[in-house]
Amino acid sequence: MPRIAIIGAGISGLACALELERHGITPAIFEQRSRPGELFSHVAGTLQLMSRPIQDQVAFLHNHLHLPVKPLAPLRRIIMHTPNTTRSITGHLGYFFLRGQDEGSTESQLYSLLKTPVFYNHYADWRILAHHYDYVVVGDGIQQVPRILGCWQDILKTWVRGAVVLGNFDPNTLIMWINTRYCRSAYAYLTPFDSRRASLVLIVSESNGDEIEEKWRLFWEVEGLDYQIVESFSIQHISGYCYPPQVGNVILVGNAGGFMEPFLGFGLMAALRSGIYAGRALARGESYTNLTYDLRQQIIHALALRRVLNGMTNADYDRLVNLLTAPGIRQLIYNTNIDVLKYTTVLLDQLERLKQKIRPRM
Ligand SMILES: Cc1cc2nc3c(=O)[nH]c(=O)nc-3n(C[C@H](O)[C@H](O)[C@H](O)COP(=O)(O)OP(=O)(O)OC[C@H]3O[C@@H](n4cnc5c(N)ncnc54)[C@H](O)[C@@H]3O)c2cc1C
Repeated sequence: MPRIAIIGAGISGLACALELERHGITPAIFEQRSRPGELFSHVAGTLQLMSRPIQDQVAFLHNHLHLPVKPLAPLRRIIMHTPNTTRSITGHLGYFFLRGQDEGSTESQLYSLLKTPVFYNHYADWRILAHHYDYVVVGDGIQQVPRILGCWQDILKTWVRGAVVLGNFDPNTLIMWINTRYCRSAYAYLTPFDSRRASLVLIVSESNGDEIEEKWRLFWEVEGLDYQIVESFSIQHISGYCYPPQVGNVILVGNAGGFMEPFLGFGLMAALRSGIYAGRALARGESYTNLTYDLRQQIIHALALRRVLNGMTNADYDRLVNLLTAPGIRQLIYNTNIDVLKYTTVLLDQLERLKQKIRPRM
């Protein structure tokens, strides 16, 4: 039986531990906090569009990953505000998941399924563990270890400013705002806990923490928001590309393995999947790099979209949202299961090649 240490009782670390337990392996799990879950509560959205060809993310978690995780609510409507346009789409668009330390949070749900005790209040050092265990699974949510191992490349650095707000909300609707004045090439979004409480998040790209309060104030002013704030947080968010995701006996999962896509900064589904694949690879002697191939392809596709967003103006955003919600296109994107991300990437690649060909030679 291999001796396995897991760093972090977060989304990816707990998923890995559960998969190892399912195969009869008891890992040693180290968590620096006194209990699982992020210190601030928020609601994460997952978009069906980003996980294709998976049709239903919750059914996939249950049936393929053996994770009976319950979402907070299905996501049935997205309202998109750009500077001069407001459009919405409806359908089976994804799910909302509760995050944080509350009973129903995704982390708490995973933890309640676990039999192995967690070593809480224990800041783990991966080098020491790599020396004493056969394998170390790093699910610490940051990029420090892959940077040191030389397998990390930054893609997008952002600052995230968030709050829990009170107001009147539709529990199945995600609201999104895009305006280069306050978020550059990123965005802001609101995800509801219920009809009275929601998390409101502003993501500012290429930002250092200094300007975040000013951008947050501008966002509220430009959008004319009047919610009541009951909790606030601010953190740095870095998405990157990590390859290979295993170096020697160190296996990188979740954010530490680069499994947070750089288009919207979503990483919940990929953190769960990479954790399970790490457990599976270790228990069955399979290649973790091969098992995570599809996840890396999704990152590469999302990167192509991110590059397009990086060059867009507010007028481009108005046009894009109009285009994405035009009747025929809307039907194609949201009411089929076509892997739009993949084909958009192919299309963007062809356009880039064409541009290279027709560019006049100097
Ligand atoms: C504000 C915010 C909003 C987000 N919204 C969305 C969203 O809407 N949709 C989506 O899909 N994704 C979203 N994400 C991204 C998603 O939350 C992450 O991709 C996911 O949580 C990554 O899981 P992880 O297991 O890698 O890390 P985490 O879940 O962060 O877990 C890491 C754990 O490791 C512990 N740890 C760290 N270092 C050590 C150490 N040395 N020793 C012991 N323990 C350690 C930490 O305490 C923590 O418990 C959001 C993230 C944030 C911050």
